[in-house]
Amino acid sequence: MYERILVRYGDLTLKGKNKKVFIDKVNSLVREKVNNPRVKYEKNHDRLYILLNGENHDEIIKGLDKVSGLSSYSLVSKSERDIESIKANALLAVESEIKDKVVTFKVESKRSDKQYPIQSPEITKIIAGYVLKNTSMLVVDVHNPELVLNIEVRHDAAFVYCKKIKGMGGFPVGVAGKGLLMLSGGIDSPVAGFLSMKQGIEIEGIHFESTPLTSIESAQKVIDLTEKLAVYAPHSRIKIHMVPFMELHTALLNHIPEAYNITIMRRMMYRIAERIALKNGCKVLLNGESVGQVASQTLQSMSVINEVVNMPVIRPLATYDKLDIIAISKKIECFKISIKPFEDCCTVYVPKRPATAPRLEACIRYEEAFDFDSLVDKTVEETKTITINTKEHLDLTMLGLVVSEVI
Ligand code: ATP
Ligand code: MG
Repeated sequence: MYERILVRYGDLTLKGKNKKVFIDKVNSLVREKVNNPRVKYEKNHDRLYILLNGENHDEIIKGLDKVSGLSSYSLVSKSERDIESIKANALLAVESEIKDKVVTFKVESKRSDKQYPIQSPEITKIIAGYVLKNTSMLVVDVHNPELVLNIEVRHDAAFVYCKKIKGMGGFPVGVAGKGLLMLSGGIDSPVAGFLSMKQGIEIEGIHFESTPLTSIESAQKVIDLTEKLAVYAPHSRIKIHMVPFMELHTALLNHIPEAYNITIMRRMMYRIAERIALKNGCKVLLNGESVGQVASQTLQSMSVINEVVNMPVIRPLATYDKLDIIAISKKIECFKISIKPFEDCCTVYVPKRPATAPRLEACIRYEEAFDFDSLVDKTVEETKTITINTKEHLDLTMLGLVVSEVI
């Protein structure tokens, strides 16, 4: 029944050259995620049409759902140009929208073919009258309608659409530049990564793995989560930097008083993350911290931890409610992976009473107790990078090796 999909772009308040960059990027993402050589694309000002050419529209929509920077799409059906055919088509379109409650609606018509014998206001009148007569759940509201039935008469055919499917919104991933996502196996950081991509930031991941102190499965979780995030990434792939954290982690357990262990561990993570970011052209650090969630996420902790880096740290979830985070985690199919019960370096050896208001002078003093600089250097040097994509699944456990050996 549907002949084409009308695709509307997201936030186009951008001007001039930036707008062109936005549209070019979003169009190339659309082609990549739709990934169907049989459909055709037609650019039209601030919109894009996908001509289905007989292809299944559900499959195409699944592709569009992975493109950041789209506000909505509509399935458009085609009919002959005579008014009886348009009426029938319009009624079908409206019927598929109304269920068991009264809906306010209006009709909007457009004549691209000015030779067409009926003028737009007249088309609107005829179609609205016909649709109202043949349905019982519609009331006209021209100012604030819930449903807009659009009619467009062109030279070759007439088109009708009304349903608007909500897109991801945001900006096309990549237009904002690149950030380094601190990715644990938990619930929060993959959601932070998704929201960053949605806002146009291309991501690379960094994971601190302490195998064999922590299990190989916890590193596998990170790989599986990255695979889920890669669905939204350009070329469906994301680089992930695996940091062999065991030696530094052990040194911290040996040298740092228990209450300050997490604070200082996180200061080390931030230091390393900034170094890896700089090496890889990432302009910001991203993470899943949310104010108040755990001891290391009080404002005082955050400020003491943040103090070791110069690069901006973006925390997309800083003010999010956990339930809202979980809802997104489920939507992007990460939740089931995130809740698998394997310990990572933040959950193994959790101090009984972590400092919730750590003092900077104390951190500096404790860090002087051992030569962390050279350990940080060594750790950065030994970091291995892998590229995760949505096509080949990487299974560390099957290989039966610790991460550092696999890569
Ligand atoms: P998450 O659910 O993402 O694990 P969390 O609530 O468990 O978050 P923390 O463990 O305190 O919180 O970690 C806060 C943030 O620090 C994480 O969201 C993540 O961005 C980063 N982080 C924690 N552990 C690691 C790790 N092993 N590797 C990389 N980043 C990490
Ligand atoms: Mg965690």
